[in-house]
Amino acid sequence: MSLRLIANWKLNGSIEFNNQWAEDFFKNFSSKNSKSIGIAPVSIYIGHLKKVIGDCGIEIGAQNICDKEFGERTGEISASMIKDMGCKFSLIGHSERRTFFHESNKIISQKLNQANNNSLIPILCIGETAEENKRNKTYDVLESQINEALRDLNQLSSIIIAYEPVWAIGSGKIPSPEEINSIHKMIKDVVQSRFPKIGLKSVLYGGSVNSDNASSLFVLEHIDGALVGGASLNGKEFAQIANILSELR
Ligand code: PEP
Repeated sequence: MSLRLIANWKLNGSIEFNNQWAEDFFKNFSSKNSKSIGIAPVSIYIGHLKKVIGDCGIEIGAQNICDKEFGERTGEISASMIKDMGCKFSLIGHSERRTFFHESNKIISQKLNQANNNSLIPILCIGETAEENKRNKTYDVLESQINEALRDLNQLSSIIIAYEPVWAIGSGKIPSPEEINSIHKMIKDVVQSRFPKIGLKSVLYGGSVNSDNASSLFVLEHIDGALVGGASLNGKEFAQIANILSELR
């Protein structure tokens, strides 16, 4: 089963936060299937969070990995180190990394390669800005982000793509579910036609997902799940989203 619901905790968390979150999540999570759920905490808390959630099936991953394996990259964390900590996946190319850390599609491609070499599932994040959306450039932007990131890697054994319109992240605004569904279909078509040897496991939607809008998204054929930022910081709210996903898929 592929990962279908991933919490991106961004630059939030503490030991106390992990404990409280787990208590709230497990009190409210009513499904037996936690195998499709992932959490990406700040990397320094991976070990602690793993102990707190125990052997419940939820996967832990990183929010980012370095494009290099080792050496002169002070402050960075490599894919092999994340793997060594028992992680299964890493987000790659989140829009905050593209914007604040100037990550190019070329760097993102090198990070995908690192993830693949270390058997981590990469969650490639793509999405258009408000300006690009207004100019009806969404499809072109997404297609070129996919092509540039995957061009040199036509044999990735597995990848998940998260479609995250930049203007929908943390804003409370989201495209209509039907619009997201057709964009996800386009993403699947582009990957299948241009990179038929790449194992695309699922296409997730990210941007202001919460327990109020989750069911309108998860009922649609091509929306395989979600990458959740703000709403994932509350264990109860995230459990409610997970319950909705397991009822509908
Ligand atoms: C994100 O940053 O990946 C995200 C989806 O954030 P939010 O859910 O807060 O919009």
